Amino acid sequence: MAHTQLVVIGGGPGGYAAAFLAADLKMQVTLVDLEANPGGVCLYRGCIPSKTLLHAAKVINEAREAEHYGLTFGEPKLDLDKLRGFELGVVQRLTSGTGQLAKARKVNYIQGRATFKSNGELSIKKADGSEESLTFDNAIVATGSRPASFPVFDIGSNRIMDSTKGLLLEDVPQKLLVVGGGYIGLELGSVYSALGSQVTAVEATPGLLPGADRDLVQVLQKRLQTQFSDIWLDTKVVALTDDGDGVTVTFEGKNAGQHKFDKLLVAVGRRPNGENLGLENTKIELDKRGFIPVNGARQTVEPKIYAIGDIAGEPMLAHKASHEGRMAVEAIAGHKVAWEPSAIPAVIFTDPELAWAGLTETQAEKLGKKVKVAKFPWTASGRAMTIDRMEGVTKLILDPETDRILGVGIAGAGAGELIAEGTLAIEMGALADDMRFTIHAHPTLSETLMEAAEVTYGEATHTMLKAR
Ligand code: FAD
Ligand code: NAD
Repeated sequence: MAHTQLVVIGGGPGGYAAAFLAADLKMQVTLVDLEANPGGVCLYRGCIPSKTLLHAAKVINEAREAEHYGLTFGEPKLDLDKLRGFELGVVQRLTSGTGQLAKARKVNYIQGRATFKSNGELSIKKADGSEESLTFDNAIVATGSRPASFPVFDIGSNRIMDSTKGLLLEDVPQKLLVVGGGYIGLELGSVYSALGSQVTAVEATPGLLPGADRDLVQVLQKRLQTQFSDIWLDTKVVALTDDGDGVTVTFEGKNAGQHKFDKLLVAVGRRPNGENLGLENTKIELDKRGFIPVNGARQTVEPKIYAIGDIAGEPMLAHKASHEGRMAVEAIAGHKVAWEPSAIPAVIFTDPELAWAGLTETQAEKLGKKVKVAKFPWTASGRAMTIDRMEGVTKLILDPETDRILGVGIAGAGAGELIAEGTLAIEMGALADDMRFTIHAHPTLSETLMEAAEVTYGEATHTMLKAR
């Protein structure tokens, strides 16, 4: 029977990062995934294809909005096949790259489905139909997640899309209902809206992006209200019928009623892939949300088995998965490590982007933790003015005693790139002083971080605002 020092089950950003580091640390590594190359949801049907389409959406919107400063372009001519081809090309290029990196590192890559036979042995059903048993010294479970659904959406209609189908860009429906005002609903809703769909977004809770700070969400919502046909909050889908020429949807709540749409995009969260893994042959039990419980080293109750990424809990983000993966490998290598990030950045890649890291005001409120908040509005940013994007805001969440930066939140064009400085500041234990005395290039949007730090002391050059 074949044996491996480390087997990683699942080749997403968590699994392949783990496998590659383990190989770099001279472990003998087997990586098992259903696809021909490593990449997982993120590369094949998540982060990468969605960001490719969001880039196209941004170009369309920017071209339209340039009219405001005297540049008028014609309506964009959409070649859907070519756009889809570009999207697929990006995915293929990246995933063949991860395949080559696996080979170059001598990772034994197996295309197939793995299930536990015991806490030391796997059965692998390979893509060619054959089956193999593999014993291991250590295993990392990195099986990720899949779109969640509810019975109300299971009417077997091909007019109902999940994120995977939405990314296939089969057509641009005239009237699209986006169910769920979270990450995916707002990102893919923005794509379809830019391509020409009339988008209605329906969200069950009273606000978009539940959990995010309301002042940041407000910046995005204001702009989405000009792009989407409707945003219905506090409203739920309770029944659907496919009438052949569209889907009639019954809503309950604030916007109760019946409306017809050409297609639906359902984005109501994701479920971890913990089933059909043979976990019943180990001591591992899923928690009530379907996650595999792990300790600070990402180790399960089975000391030889680790779990990382979406299967191991929130937040379900690619960069969280890959850091956990690398950390689990270090733990297996005997290094002293623990999963204690001060900040895991979150970015919603809409336009404007929302980004935050570390403590949010919403969390501080929930925890009853006193904080000081220093906000810099982009109306006072020269750079924001030059790009005609003054709707943004940058804020620092500070320890009121020490002015240590505990959290950073940004809403505005390019916030996803800007948040890196905030994340580093939090991880380094920086004070608002450190940020204000760091010289930032002019004119850049990064100056909004420096000026927010100046607001802490009521000494910002371009605003007279004070921290609260
Ligand atoms: P996954 O990427 O889910 O990979 C798990 C892999 O394991 C899959 O390839 C699966 O086929 C395989 N697998 C499952 N079971 C088995 C088995 N028994 N045997 C072998 N293989 C198995 N996150 C971000 O950080 N930024 C973004 O911009 C972003 N955009 C997203 C957009 C969309 C539309 C979606 C759906 C998700 C997005 N995410 C984003 C989330 C991100 O994709 C996930 O958090 C990330 O992929 C999780 O990585 P992972 O390694 O845990 O698992
Ligand atoms: P989500 O949890 O972000 O949002 C789901 C939304 O649907 C929530 O606001 C929820 O209240 C709402 N909802 C649930 N049931 C509903 C119903 N019946 N009717 C109306 N609304 C309903 O989930 P998602 O958008 O599916 O994304 C899944 C996860 O994937 C995200 O949480 C995130 O971890 C990850 N992701 C990240 C990015 C990124 O980093 N940019 C992008 C896409 C996805």
